[in-house]
Amino acid sequence: MKKLLISMFIAIIPFLLISGGTYPAGQNVLFTFDDGPNPLYTPQVLQTLHENNIQAVFFVVGQEVLKHPDLLAEIDRHGHLIGVHTFSHRNITEMTHAELRREIQATAELINRITGQNPVYFRPPRGKHNRAQLDLIYNMSYVPVKWHGCLEKRGVDKPEQLVNDLIKRIRHIPNPVILLHDGDPAHYHDRTATMQSLPLLIERLRESGYGFADPRDSSKLRQVEL
Ligand SMILES: [Zn+2]
Repeated sequence: MKKLLISMFIAIIPFLLISGGTYPAGQNVLFTFDDGPNPLYTPQVLQTLHENNIQAVFFVVGQEVLKHPDLLAEIDRHGHLIGVHTFSHRNITEMTHAELRREIQATAELINRITGQNPVYFRPPRGKHNRAQLDLIYNMSYVPVKWHGCLEKRGVDKPEQLVNDLIKRIRHIPNPVILLHDGDPAHYHDRTATMQSLPLLIERLRESGYGFADPRDSSKLRQVEL
């Protein structure tokens, strides 16, 4: 009997090592895409998400929406949720309150005019913000949100490495919110690595036991509320 118990314990050691303190099985990931819409990248992301039956949140930049209204309409047609990521993609800590208010309002009005959606979530560029600005954002009835893990990493363009690193980073977070980019408002980021990584990321997440969250489940983005 004792021998049997010992051998049973030894048999489950690898399982304990793999699963200890991590959350993959039964957890839902939420994808969020910032900086679009972009004519090169957004259609690729929409296609990959469509093939995999995944809904996401797109935090769009107003000046890019102005250039590509059809792409925003396309995001909406695919059933994704749209959030505000400022109009100019400037650092909001360098804006006056009046400027920030105008940036959010102008972007939200464009989104509403094109898609009929009334955005609720706001994500500041690069996550930068200060306390007084959060108060302003809440007063405007928006929920400011961040993320748990970002796929892109400066100087890394191998999909395998980007995906592995991200999965390692989110492993201890229940129902992680992931940040990816489908745009480039500053015109210096090449998002090819993101496009190549997305199908692999979806495959790896599924293999690890993750599902994909409904972006309209309000508890999901509330997890990364600022
Ligand atoms: Zn951004």
